[in-house]
Amino acid sequence: MTMKEPLFGKTLEQLTEITSELGLPKYTAGQISGWLYKKDITSINEMTNLSKRARQMLSDKYLLGTSLPVSVQESKDGTKKYLFKVGENGFVETAYIPEKKRNTLCVSSQIGCKMGCMFCMTGKQGFQANLTAGEILNQLRSIPEFQKVTNVVYMGMGEPLDNTEEVLKSLEILTSEWGFGKSPRKITVSTIGIIPEMKVFLEKSECHLAVSLHSPFDQERSKLMPVNKIYPVKDVTEVLRNYGFGRQRRVSFEYIVFKNLNDTPQHVKELARLLNGIKCRINLIRFHKIPGTPLETTDEKRLVEFKDALNEKGITTTIRASRGQDIDAACGLLSTRELLKIKRL
Ligand code: SF4
Repeated sequence: MTMKEPLFGKTLEQLTEITSELGLPKYTAGQISGWLYKKDITSINEMTNLSKRARQMLSDKYLLGTSLPVSVQESKDGTKKYLFKVGENGFVETAYIPEKKRNTLCVSSQIGCKMGCMFCMTGKQGFQANLTAGEILNQLRSIPEFQKVTNVVYMGMGEPLDNTEEVLKSLEILTSEWGFGKSPRKITVSTIGIIPEMKVFLEKSECHLAVSLHSPFDQERSKLMPVNKIYPVKDVTEVLRNYGFGRQRRVSFEYIVFKNLNDTPQHVKELARLLNGIKCRINLIRFHKIPGTPLETTDEKRLVEFKDALNEKGITTTIRASRGQDIDAACGLLSTRELLKIKRL
């Protein structure tokens, strides 16, 4: 038996190819994308402006391809963490973070990750698979808050620019009129700085970029993030300096602050030097302790002093509010637990 392919996650161009292969009128592709990305349906049969014959032909070869989360944890502060099953044994996490002025969805782009960052639970799982554009977007489409989401960040499990093709496809669907119709100014993709892929992303997308920095010193950063040995931080910032970000498109730097490690006056000085000439901001992030690392959470006083020192150097710096701390805030914990359950079976 041949497996049916999902329609959800296909671009208008791909849908046009499908309809022409089936001998359906060209405008059918636009009708299908409308059902997939703008309406709430659960089967191809509900695409009621398509002829019965067209629906049958589609259903013979394709399925809708959306799937509901398998579980949800809700924090006292309203943050929700959804767990989606992908494929046979894969799990990915998605966080919905409601705030006063916006509701952000943090999506995953891979099952596990191969980048091996020292502070990351997902990294400890190792890599299982890339998500398809459909699997990335299903995390938005299949949660009850779908219509309330204002901002999307690609900061969940996985390194988005280690799966550039599917991530770019998902961004096309997210930002196109025929798709979800969201503004690229409301979407941010994070990366640990894979330079060739970062260049592709900068050229092919208009969405914001967030670069995980965590240390301005090569030796230290290489320990925290092995990718730095291949793409040193100075080379990453050089590309960004030459790109010329402005008001329309922003670059920000994510900086997890670890106790007695990366929050000294030397770090402030070096960060100012490294980021000189780049219009950017730094988001400081409190470290949520995970099993199996010696890294510690910094204390509040030190965190605020570090932020103030960076601002004094002229780098706009804010501390990201910790959300959902009572529900395994560190990304990767929930899915790791599910994986362990499967392994024990
Ligand atoms: S921090 Fe991101 S890139 Fe690093 S291991 Fe975790 S998921 Fe991968």
